[in-house]
Formats: sequence, structure tokens, C-alpha cells
Amino acid sequence: AHLDRIEAVEPDVHAFLHVNGQEALEAARRADEDRANGRAASPLAGVPLALKDVFTTTDMPTTCGSRMLEDWTPPYDSTVAGRLREAGVVILGKTNMDEFAMGSSTENSAFGPTHNPWDLERVPGGSGGGSSAALAAFEAPLAIGTDTGGSIRQPAAVTGTVGVKPTYGGVSRYGLVAFSSSLDQAGPCGRTVLDAAMLHEVIAGHDRMDSTSIDAPVPQVTAAAREGAAGDLRGMRVGVVREFAGEGYQRGVLDSFNAAVDTLTSLGAEVVEVSCPHFEYALGAYYLIAPSECSSNLARFDAMRYGLRVGDDGEHNTEEVMSLTREQGFGAEVKRRIMLGTYALSSGYYDAYYGQAQKVRTLISRDFASAFEQVDVLVSPTTPTTAFRIGERADDPMAMYLADLCTIPSNLAGNASMSVPSGVSAEDGLPVGLQIMAPAMADDRLYRVGAAYE
Ligand code: GLN
Repeated sequence: AHLDRIEAVEPDVHAFLHVNGQEALEAARRADEDRANGRAASPLAGVPLALKDVFTTTDMPTTCGSRMLEDWTPPYDSTVAGRLREAGVVILGKTNMDEFAMGSSTENSAFGPTHNPWDLERVPGGSGGGSSAALAAFEAPLAIGTDTGGSIRQPAAVTGTVGVKPTYGGVSRYGLVAFSSSLDQAGPCGRTVLDAAMLHEVIAGHDRMDSTSIDAPVPQVTAAAREGAAGDLRGMRVGVVREFAGEGYQRGVLDSFNAAVDTLTSLGAEVVEVSCPHFEYALGAYYLIAPSECSSNLARFDAMRYGLRVGDDGEHNTEEVMSLTREQGFGAEVKRRIMLGTYALSSGYYDAYYGQAQKVRTLISRDFASAFEQVDVLVSPTTPTTAFRIGERADDPMAMYLADLCTIPSNLAGNASMSVPSGVSAEDGLPVGLQIMAPAMADDRLYRVGAAYE
């Protein structure tokens, strides 16, 4: 049924870069057989899923939305893909994304944009717009995204779906093509909080192949979602981040957020306002740290090891082949980041830019720490606006970067964070997301509050 649905809506939505129908049907048949024999691999065995095209998979290409990796099929499975397969989850295909996960609209994909199923003229957010659009268009009931600065939560918000960035280190990054290694985190996407929780438990947990993977029990997120579904938040202290409102926020988004706060109060939560004074510097710090790490990580695309190779014709030397390949293989945004990052890391500028950004990062972590002395979770709008029109911000990087204003602090601090649907904006009828933020390793709190609220 999902393959039929994909065939019917893909010409309009373009959520997928690759669909593996044959393999998916076989995996589904195997899951059915196991279940009939009382040997279901997990509660999600046989459930279809859309996988962001940034995870390595041996049976499908992994392009990261880039010409650089067009047609590249990896020799190994990412831990996330491997765990999904072990759990009997059926991987339908790979979803569209901004090139190397850099963007907030999926327009930076080398293979054309994904369209928001709510309004095909609008973006589905990014970088994981393909995964969230696939959920919103009912092409898949579950999806996986990655969130470096908001790429799971921001698309979830603007497509009316659920997206979770787990605690940094909660889900293995092995086989997740690196953008900014100290920020990248894989996470579950679904149409309900409970669905996301069940998927979270399949992919999370220690992995010796990732040195930053946390060696501790996975938070009990499914139990928390079930508990939250009873709708009782008595004893839960919720902090409203004062700094996430005002200029730049759409009226309908703020109205929806205020209504969400009223709902949380009516569910028994104790709501207070808290201040996180350094959050206003998060965007600036992020756009030094993320490009710096990306400039280093993307050095591996040197025309020798992976994918594209241009000018290998006996006329050009090695250095020329490398530069021709990088010139043609990378899109404009990726080049912008590599240049910014290389500059910020260069001798004489390192302390002023990268070093300074790392200090700001510490201050943001401290803001969170002192807020979490007063409250159990923090809430804010997920995004300042609803989905914008395709093309509207394409030539204005600063406007594009602002889409992640509210999501970035949790990445810088490594905390857990979720976006849950919060109705539609009265102005344009488009979905709005409520962001819930919790301390590291307290992912279960997100699910309890999210399930109570949805
Ligand atoms: N929009 C942000 C960026 O372009 C976040 C991307 C992400 O989370 N992968 O860097």
C-alpha cells in the first residue's frame, strides 16, 4: 500500500531520491513469516520506513543530495540501517535532503526540491524535508532524520509531524555521513509521539563503532510516551524560554505557542518563564562551528576515494582533478560553508572565530543547566514561521539560517529536543510545531510531555 501511495504522490511531492520496492517487499514478506511463526524481530517488524539519504546502505545508493556521491553505493551499512533491518523494519527507500544536510528547505538538494504536502508551492523544511514530507504525504508511517542544527525538528514543525533529536551520543553516528561531528545526531520521525518513541528504542543505544556513543541504558521513551498519553502532567515543571518570542516571529506561530502553554497548564503542568540570555548568540556560534567542522569533514571528497571524478583524462594532474571535481561536485551552499569554515579555522583567525564560538557554546550549555535547575523541560515554538514558499529564501542565506533560530541551542549543548504538532497558524492554515527541550539523557521527558500534549 505504501509503495502504491509513493507511486501516486511522488510526481508532486518528490520526497524520495531512491525507492527500493523489490527489496522492501521481500523484507515485508520475511517479517510476515516471522510474525506468523511467533518470531517477530521487534514490535516494529514489518513496518515501512523512509531513511534520509545520509546513512550508508549496502542495497541502495547514498548520495547525501550531492552530485559528489551520485550513484555511490557504500560497502557497509550504517549502524542505524543495520539496527532497523535487525528489528525487521522495512526500508522503503532513501529520502531527499539539502546537500550534505546543509540547509533549511531541501532546496539545496542537487536532485531538485521536495514539496510540502500541505501546499506544494512551499518547502517542507530542511535539511530532512524528504523524510518529513514522506510522513505528511502518508508515503511512510516512520522515517529517520538527522539533526545538526534543527534538520529533524524544523521539517517536522512545518509538515505537522513529530521529530526528535535525541541526546547527542544517544544514537550511533557510524555510517552517518559527517557534516559537523560534534553536533550531528540521528533521530526518529513519525506522525505520533508513540510511533517516534518505538522507533527511538530500535535505533538508540551504545555502539562501539562510534567513539561518542553513550555507554548507558537508553531512556525508557516508549513507557514515557504511554504514561504521557494519559494526559496528566501534574508535578511536571515547564519553562517558557523568554528569549524565543518577539521580532521575527509570525503572529500565528506565537498565538499557537501561547495556546500550547495554556494546554500544558490545563494538563496540570506548572509553567514558569525562564531566561536563557545567551541563546541569542547561538545562531552566530553555530554558523562558525558547523562550517568549521564541515570544512574538515568534507575534505575526504577528493575525487580519489568516493564517487565523482572529473578531468581524469591524462591531461590533468592530481590537484587539478581534485579541484575540478570539487568545483563541479559541490553546490553553492556547501562551497560557502567550506570557505567560511576554512577561514574561521585558519591561523590568526582561529581564536577570534572558532575559539570564541566554542566559548559561547559553553555559555549556552550553562544557560540550559541553570534553567534545568528550575524546570524539568523547556518549551518554545520550533520555528519562527510556518513553511515558506519555494524560492523565497533561496538567494538569502541569512534568511534561510534564521529558520533554525530556536532549534540550534539544543544541538550546541547536546541536549534532547522534540517538535510536536501544535495545530495550524490562523493566518495561513499551515502547521506549527511546539518544541520541547530536556537535559541530556532525559529524552523520556520529551515523550511524556509530547504525548500528553498531542
Ligand atoms: N539548517 C541548519 C544548517 O543548514 C541545520 C542543518 C541540519 O540540522 N543538518 O546548518
